[in-house]
Formats: sequence, structure tokens, C-alpha cells
Amino acid sequence: MKKHNFNAGPSILPRIAVENSAKAILDLNGIGLSLLEISHRSKDFQGILDETMALFKELLQIPAGYQVVFLGGGASMQFCMVPYNFLNRKAAYLETGVWAQKAIKEAKFFGEVNVVASSSDKNFTYIPKGYVVPADVDYFHITTNNTIYGSEIRTDIESPVPLVADMSSDILSRPVDISKYDLIYGGAQKNLGPAGVTFVIIKEEILSRVTRKIPTMLNYATHLKEPSLFNTPPVFAIYTCLETLRWIKGLGGVKVIEQMNLKKANLLYDTIDNSRMFTGTVEKESRSLMNICFVMKEQYKDKEDAFMEFAKTRGMIGIKGHRSVGGFRASTYNALPYESVQALVDAMNEFEKNNI
Ligand SMILES: *Cc1c(COP(=O)(O)O)cnc(C)c1O
Repeated sequence: MKKHNFNAGPSILPRIAVENSAKAILDLNGIGLSLLEISHRSKDFQGILDETMALFKELLQIPAGYQVVFLGGGASMQFCMVPYNFLNRKAAYLETGVWAQKAIKEAKFFGEVNVVASSSDKNFTYIPKGYVVPADVDYFHITTNNTIYGSEIRTDIESPVPLVADMSSDILSRPVDISKYDLIYGGAQKNLGPAGVTFVIIKEEILSRVTRKIPTMLNYATHLKEPSLFNTPPVFAIYTCLETLRWIKGLGGVKVIEQMNLKKANLLYDTIDNSRMFTGTVEKESRSLMNICFVMKEQYKDKEDAFMEFAKTRGMIGIKGHRSVGGFRASTYNALPYESVQALVDAMNEFEKNNI
């Protein structure tokens, strides 16, 4: 049976990226060696790294004055690296979910944290508005897509201070005006590649703001000086990212991807909104295109397990909601085909018809 992979992360990758990565493990470009067996300083790997960085910059239209590095440690390591490097006295954070809270917790090790707004009062079902970012903070940190709760900041906001964004789960899902940000980071395993590599887009100019003494590996300057090659980078994960980037370019770039994502999300949100049985959990204007959360209406709550079982028989994988939300979460990342959303919608409609 065909599987429809709605996993939240690690999650679905373009099939071609998986296949070409498998080939590269057996024999990289016909050189008679595995990708896993060559030096990260070899010509063959340098070519992979150069193309990955160039494509990443091209697809995201990263302007001059910014650098990209691929590191280990996950987005969670960035929760600590960002304040270690840039929180000299005080920073502002927007609290929109569990990942934002984890970032806040790490920042507190380094200085004062001003949580300018929070949606914790309603279990993170909306993106706060109308808050003020004080001008005297070192930076403002946001989480553009809240993977667990299914809310998203889909427009590039204006910030009076350097803007830092965790884009782990919506990078490359829509065009972004990079010039509005000073630093963007994320784990690759949602929308870009396999687990094990973290991307960081950094405006070179902000390095001059670092005042603290920082251990070598946690210092951005180290990694900008020898881009992604200060120590051994996650070579395999980077290769799969390259294959994903080639796939995005082949489709026509991020604008095309955005249209595909809109089509998928609209299909599922329309189904949810027109349903007598299902209902969305996030306020409409804050809804994510990447993680679509829904539950059963109060009078049908006892049918959630039955729907889960039914959906499994139709090949649905990974639609169980996070424990802090309950119900269902369909992650509709770039690589998820429209047909999978159609299959889910068909299953929802059929279940509803037979159980109301
Ligand atoms: C998954 C996720 C993280 C955590 O990423 P790791 O690479 O596992 O550290 C952080 N932020 C967001 C928004 C995520 O979706």
C-alpha cells in the first residue's frame, strides 16, 4: 500500500533526493568510493559543499553581506549559540510555542530576556500582534513556524533591532526577504534534508557586536572564517540537502514551491472548515502551511482513535497530534505530494460520512 508520510520531523524528502543519496553512499559520481569514505577536505566533497551553499543562497536569494554555514548540533544548539554570541545585556523573544520557550530558556543563561508577547494563554493557537519590541535590546528572536501547534508567521516582520529567526520547519517553503533578518537558523530535518545538519544564515556585519569570550566551536566567527569546514561537517546530511535543493531548483524555485504548498494547505483547511466532525485548532490568520492541526468537535471526540485506525488502513503515517495539542497534525512539507493530502481529505470525508 502507498504510504502518505505526514511525519513532523524527520519527515518526507523528495524521493529523488533519497535515491540519489543512496547512490552516493554506494559510489559517489562514479569515483569508486562512497560519499562516506572520502575526506571532507577532498576536491569531491568541496564540490558538494560549494554547490550546496551556492544553491541555498540562490534559491533563498540571500543578498551580499550574508554567509551560510552548515553545522552540527541541531536548532537546539542555536538556542544557545545565538545568545552566547549576541546577548550582551538583554534580548526580546516572542513566545509562540515549545521551541520558542526552549530558546528563551537558553537565552536566560546569558542575560535578561524580555518576552514581548506570548500566546501561551490560549495554548499557542495564535500569533500575538500589537506588541512592541524595545529599542534597547540586543536582538529580537522569533520562531516563524510553530511545528507543534501549527501556527506560522508568514510575512517578514519589521524589527527595530536585529531580527533572529528559527526557521527550522518553514525554510524554503516560501520566499523570504533575507535582508530583514540578521540571523536565520534551523535544523534541516523538516524541509531541507536529513537530521544531523543545521543551517545558519548570518549577516557578517553583526559579528562586530560580539563582546564575550566564546569557546571556539560555539563562536560564529570560527565557522564563518572556514565556512562549514572548521571541523568535519555532517557530510552525508549535507549531500542530501544538496539533492533536495536541486529538486527545488528543478521545479522552478521557492515561488513555485510556495504555490504548491498553498494548494495543499487550502485543500486540507477547506476540508476542515467545511466539516461537521473536524475542526481546526489555530486561529485562521495564524495558520501554518507546514503543520496543519485539527481535532474532532466535542460531540465526536470519542471517535478520534477510530479515525486514526481508519486513516492507517489508507496509508496515512504520522498524523497523530503532538501530545500537547491532541487530535491530529498533518505536516505538509515541501516534499509531500498533493496526492497525499487528497488521500487524507478523502479518508476524512469518508469517515465523516460513515460516522455521523
Ligand atoms: C524541530 C524544531 C526544533 C528542534 O530542532 P533540533 O534540530 O532537533 O534541535 C527547533 N525549532 C523548531 C521550530 C523545530 O521545528
